[in-house]
Amino acid sequence: MAVSDPCIISVAITGSGTTLAQNPNLPCTPEQIATSAIESWNAGAAIAHIHVREADGKPTHNMDYFREIVERVSSETDMVLNLTTGGYTGLDPHLRLEPLTLEPELASFDAGTMNFGEGVFMNPPSFLREMAASFNEYNVRPELECFDVGMIYNCLNLINEGLIDGPLWWQFVLGVRGGAPATPKMLLHMVELLPEGSQWSAIGLGRGQLPMNTMAIIMGGHVRTGMEDNVYYRYGELATSNAQLVERCARLTRELGREVATPADARRILGLKGGIGVR
Ligand code: ZN
Repeated sequence: MAVSDPCIISVAITGSGTTLAQNPNLPCTPEQIATSAIESWNAGAAIAHIHVREADGKPTHNMDYFREIVERVSSETDMVLNLTTGGYTGLDPHLRLEPLTLEPELASFDAGTMNFGEGVFMNPPSFLREMAASFNEYNVRPELECFDVGMIYNCLNLINEGLIDGPLWWQFVLGVRGGAPATPKMLLHMVELLPEGSQWSAIGLGRGQLPMNTMAIIMGGHVRTGMEDNVYYRYGELATSNAQLVERCARLTRELGREVATPADARRILGLKGGIGVR
């Protein structure tokens, strides 16, 4: 990581927890999700993180929807696609891994079990190993999603066991109720624990989004924004689109003296394979 590297902006389009009641602009259908990803690419996002939903906003795991989104986004952009393996609360853990069969360049790798709001997000050690083996089988780079400090060590254990190898790409998800808070001190601490040569990005939930994104830009990390993590543009004002949030990250990146990474830059920085998502 270096402040001289371009800053990679990931956009998390819809997630599984945000509701239409929280923000009616939330993309839900495959067409809406793909359109929002393409608008975000135009605004400066290099990576799109994808979950799928029914038109009424209900989270689902319909692989046809994943396929449709991949096809739509890949036909119009060179965006890197990052498919979820977190799915949604209550989804069978093995079904969570199905998007790997589409062999995306990246997929989320949730690095441990935690309380998540009022629920429990189950990722026990045996499942982490199974998940790492699936990533290797389909040659998908894991985005190591760490919601707390201990999850970094879960990943380091898997690295020591030879189940995950580099280049390492970490995503710190801060501010989930049950996980580490979205504070500058927490982010500094987590970054200090990473092995040499790591690349990392930071997410802050809700009101933590803008401060964590700004910290990451200053520190030489990368950022994720989008309506999976936050539905507001500023206090009391709902975001009108994912692209609006991406535009602000791109503007901040440039104001703070860094370039905004293109998808080609992201592939170079993260050593990605290309393929799906490449025009
Ligand atoms: Zn997600």
